[in-house]
Amino acid sequence: MATIIDGKKTSQDIKNEIATRVAEIKTEGGKIPHLAAILVGNDGASQTYVGAKVKACHEIGFESTLVRLDETISEEELLAKVEEINANPDIDGLIVQLPLPKHISVEKVTDKIKPEKDVDGFTPSNVGRMALNWPAYVAATPYGIVELLKRYNIETSGKHCVVIGRSHIVGSPMSILMARNGYPGNATVTLTHSRTQNLKEIAQTADILIVALGKPEFVTADMVKPGAVVIDVGIHRVEDASKKSGFRLIGDVKFDEVAEKASAITPVPGGVGPMTIASLLYNTLLAAEKKVYG
Ligand code: NAD
Repeated sequence: MATIIDGKKTSQDIKNEIATRVAEIKTEGGKIPHLAAILVGNDGASQTYVGAKVKACHEIGFESTLVRLDETISEEELLAKVEEINANPDIDGLIVQLPLPKHISVEKVTDKIKPEKDVDGFTPSNVGRMALNWPAYVAATPYGIVELLKRYNIETSGKHCVVIGRSHIVGSPMSILMARNGYPGNATVTLTHSRTQNLKEIAQTADILIVALGKPEFVTADMVKPGAVVIDVGIHRVEDASKKSGFRLIGDVKFDEVAEKASAITPVPGGVGPMTIASLLYNTLLAAEKKVYG
């Protein structure tokens, strides 16, 4: 049976470390990290995500500002709001919760965020800095995976890492991070996607398999090399009458059978998911301490 890579515990460890640093900053009379979040409209899932981020800020002693805007807001008005927060010296980090209403360009809004405050790591400046192996705000999910690999001492140098999925927020940055000269990194990386042929054969050669394609239980035991490390990014709700909520969460990996074959695996829930907020908080601390752009 594989080692279970516990994202819930690791994310709590990171939050405790950040809270300790915030307490020190307070004692030193320094600047308390301040995260601002813009939420447009009333999407239920987005409200839950933003609510969790704001709550986490309070738990560890950060300041936070939630800016709620009506879904009818114009693109110009939203861009002006971003500019206003960019110019506010009290705010260290800014996130704009996605998705945005259809009449607003995500690219324009992302590009308007000052890179120094882009704690989601979505601006071209931060993606470029990450690719160059410069100090950067790395997007929360890839950063969370890197941190799990590090804290579980998983060897990556010279290993074959197969990434399934090439989205801008998970698969593509993950492939860049695993190929970087450093730790975690120095892996030989294969980035696969919906047009990849012989995916099963490629996956079978992976020492580290990172799965982010958004298809429930897509990766089965016959696709996994014995002893591989498997990172499951997928999250899906499936009906389950035995649960009080009426549903349970599963990943992109068929956990029970793959766990029999892998050397280490992230569960769903409790693996990659909980790491994302911890990563955002860490980036906000970096922003407040001016550790990325100086
Ligand atoms: P996406 O839909 O943006 O991208 C999916 C990628 O998978 C695409 O690049 C596509 O080419 C590839 N793909 C689709 N079908 C494929 C196939 N049959 N074979 C190989 N590649 C295929 O997805 P995303 O935003 O990267 O999210 C992926 C999953 O991770 C989703 O389940 C999402 O909910 C989850 N997710 C979880 C977290 C977290 O915090 N745990 C964060 C982001 C996303």
